[in-house]
Amino acid sequence: MPVLVASDLDRTLIYSAAALALTMPDARAPRLLCVEVHESKPLSYLTETAAQLLTDLGDAAVFVPTTTRTRKQYQRINLPGPAPKYAICANGGHLLVDGVTDPDWHAQVQARLAEQCAPLAEIQDHLMATASPAWVRKHRIAEDLFAYLVVERELLPEEWVKELAVWAENRGWTVSLQGRKIYAVPKPLTKSAAVHEVARRTGADLTLAAGDSLLDADLLLAADKGWRPGHGELADADWTAPAISALPERGVLAGERILREFLKATRTAAPL
Ligand SMILES: [Mg+2]
Repeated sequence: MPVLVASDLDRTLIYSAAALALTMPDARAPRLLCVEVHESKPLSYLTETAAQLLTDLGDAAVFVPTTTRTRKQYQRINLPGPAPKYAICANGGHLLVDGVTDPDWHAQVQARLAEQCAPLAEIQDHLMATASPAWVRKHRIAEDLFAYLVVERELLPEEWVKELAVWAENRGWTVSLQGRKIYAVPKPLTKSAAVHEVARRTGADLTLAAGDSLLDADLLLAADKGWRPGHGELADADWTAPAISALPERGVLAGERILREFLKATRTAAPL
């Protein structure tokens, strides 16, 4: 029986320069591997040690990148290790099989959204009407499934985010604030539903997970065992659950620790 490892990517396994949170003297900093280039500039990193751990994990378990990124944003990431057979994008809206979206899965998701929450257009109109150009840099729609804003964090009124969260909640949507991005995501659009589907298809009987944001809470709750880093929305809220370990590490070193834990748990469950 394979072990399924479903992990969030951004600020869980891979980190932008701003999110690295390195605290040691420069001369003792870990060597970093750039795994994402955007508009010809380096964007995301993991440590060289984490790169080796991820390669080992890819050989020992079914590793499933599980991200809120759109397919296009995911596909520019170049992770070390064997190419994952399955990947989950758009917060569960797309299940990639050998790099190609599964149309049946996507149709199922769309049907669920049409039935269970307010339409994207209503959310989009509300964001357009209430978010101030004084602190919004970009309005974005992702895969026709959800919306996000890129904001100036220092200028963003906390009160507005709280009001938005309540307004969205009443319409079956969730709000998540991650770095410079505010996401509005339909509640029925979950990473965990897609992970269940991968577990069904692979016959995995043990699921491990990791994530840092509110959009990862359902993923962690659905796993048999999980980890969250010492930074991020979940850490800020002191979020925890019985099968979840809250790690003390912050930044790119948390990513390395999470991979070490994944590998250890995989080898315990399925020794070679
Ligand atoms: Mg994340």
